[in-house]
Amino acid sequence: MGRIDLLAGHLPAFKANLHCHTTCSDGRMTPAQVKEHYKAHGYSVVAFTDHNVLIDHSDLNDESFLALTGIEVDTDSFLYGKKHEFNQTCHLCAIARTPCGVRPVYRAEQYTGEAIRAKIDEFHREGYIVNYNHPQWSAEGPDEFLHYGLFDGMEIYNHSAEVANNNGGGHSEYALALRLMDHPIRCIAADDNHAGLNCEDDSCGGWVVFRAPRLCYADIIDAYDRMSFYASTGPEIHACCIEDGTLVLDCSPVRRVHVMTQYIDPVYCGFSAENSLTHVEVPLARVPAGARFLWVQLTDAAGRKAWMNPYRLTGR
Ligand SMILES: [Zn+2]
Ligand SMILES: [Zn+2]
Repeated sequence: MGRIDLLAGHLPAFKANLHCHTTCSDGRMTPAQVKEHYKAHGYSVVAFTDHNVLIDHSDLNDESFLALTGIEVDTDSFLYGKKHEFNQTCHLCAIARTPCGVRPVYRAEQYTGEAIRAKIDEFHREGYIVNYNHPQWSAEGPDEFLHYGLFDGMEIYNHSAEVANNNGGGHSEYALALRLMDHPIRCIAADDNHAGLNCEDDSCGGWVVFRAPRLCYADIIDAYDRMSFYASTGPEIHACCIEDGTLVLDCSPVRRVHVMTQYIDPVYCGFSAENSLTHVEVPLARVPAGARFLWVQLTDAAGRKAWMNPYRLTGR
């Protein structure tokens, strides 16, 4: 039956923060300080996504650091339409598929599902990847995001919102989106760092790790497209594949591994009282016939999580 690599352990690993603010908007670190800070913490990639401004930071690139060109656009309900006493809003991080030469695209100026969907379509036409950010911080739920169309990724964890506002988790929103949208939404953990605005340090708490042949713009975007990465707040996933009809995963020591589908019960729930689970094998014969995707989640002794991207089941 052969082998499908979901996370290719033989390729180099590149740790990345896909949501970052600097002094170009409301962050406190300059782009150069962001680079130094993240490199010192083992990162190779930062997407610079300052608010409502698109800036190419390729001048920061070196042999061990890659800047991705991005922008975070916001459409606030209290400014652009739907009145909401809790300041409901929609934030999108758009990352350009090439470092320069893309046309800047700015926020939707109506807070409606149709307007935001049209904006996501416009980003796609102009050559951007679109991640839907921090649904819980935004006070949004399926009533809103199910109308936004096919965003490419969604934040399951936003570290700044977690430490500053206690609402950076997006697990239930992500799981619902995956269930209901029938679209392989990439699972993103990111910092959204502003460098400690009125709170503890909000850097290096949520990240993704790409597996790609080289550290260059084209290979990282290709790894995003192929879902050759995982998201984490702690655990490491070393490799994951489907070999001869069995899901095989290797990771740093964790307490639990769940293999989920859109159904409420997991296909598999591995548990180690000693917090020493590092290898699981799950025959796909256990997967219910109607399942559309597999989604693997890890939890370590401290409750920190890692998430594989969903794997679409076909031809079963
Ligand atoms: Zn935001
Ligand atoms: Zn942000």
